[in-house]
Amino acid sequence: MACWTAWPVSCGRWNTALDEFALIARYFRWPPQREQTRLAGGDDAALLAPPPGQVLAISTDTLLAGRHYDASIRPEDLGWKALAVNLSDLLAMAAEPLAFTLALSLPEADEAWLQGFAAGLRAHAQAASVDLIGGDTTRGPQAITITVFGAVPAAQALRRDGARPGQGVYVSGPLGDAALALRLGAQAPAALRRKLDRPEPPLRAWRGLRGHAAAGIDLSDGLSADLGHVLRASGVGATLEWAALPRSAAFAAAGATAALQRESLLHGGDDYELLVAADAEPPAPRPGQGWMRIGRIEAEPGLRLREQDGTVADLTPAAWTHF
Ligand code: ADP
Ligand code: MG
Repeated sequence: MACWTAWPVSCGRWNTALDEFALIARYFRWPPQREQTRLAGGDDAALLAPPPGQVLAISTDTLLAGRHYDASIRPEDLGWKALAVNLSDLLAMAAEPLAFTLALSLPEADEAWLQGFAAGLRAHAQAASVDLIGGDTTRGPQAITITVFGAVPAAQALRRDGARPGQGVYVSGPLGDAALALRLGAQAPAALRRKLDRPEPPLRAWRGLRGHAAAGIDLSDGLSADLGHVLRASGVGATLEWAALPRSAAFAAAGATAALQRESLLHGGDDYELLVAADAEPPAPRPGQGWMRIGRIEAEPGLRLREQDGTVADLTPAAWTHF
């Protein structure tokens, strides 16, 4: 899209060495890897063919400088994370990721930054076998918007409203790492910081979830809030087991206070693991690492927590919201 002011008065130009189109060609035009991508990059629109009999699953997430990340994140990690926060949404629907678009707003064409960002983004795109099929590039405050496209047979899409009493609540990996890293700041051990800066949603989990889970969500806002969305949509409740909440070795070794650990496990966001409700444990979300059962869906609405000593109390969802 052209700038609406009379060019070049206040639109500005990137610079003569690297204009908008050269920037896109240099950093964001990659050869497609998938047969579903019929046309990518360079035309007015991309052409994407979902596999026969499947529907498209589509999701968008924006990362804003100063709100979702700060200047301390490496550009490589930011590129990786921008895709991670989108892929987890598709995986939670049991959709196979196919492709994505990238809308990038940048204050300047900083080549060192672009190189790192594009490398991290591309590494994750290759790991996930998704094609970058188009986007938009503008000058402005730094903001990264990715839209992902996936495919799933409509009847097998995992929605939030499918949880039923008696099912187990399962998560795909340890909880609270990213939240603890955020709260520990510069004191955070590298392994925890990596979970915050470079989350790794389980890229192949979509396959095993089809036909084996009833409801799903990705853990972006925190366990209590995200599970709360599933419970409300499904018209059910749940009890979580404190002792069963999975903690990573780095989480346990970080030496945080009991209160901080509890807050991070129950309410911390940014893990981008998956949570599902299922009658029995679905096929493993990652090679060699199964789902972890953390609680049970019940008919009585509301969220409850069984403590280590067996007492059960209401758990009030608490998480970051923008407004
Ligand atoms: P238009 O003016 O028709 O919207 P643009 O000039 O915005 O087209 O973009 C030119 C082409 O480059 C389009 O095919 C678009 O999808 C692609 N593109 C623009 N920005 C990006 C980006 N950040 N990453 C990948 N492709 C991009
Ligand atoms: Mg455009």
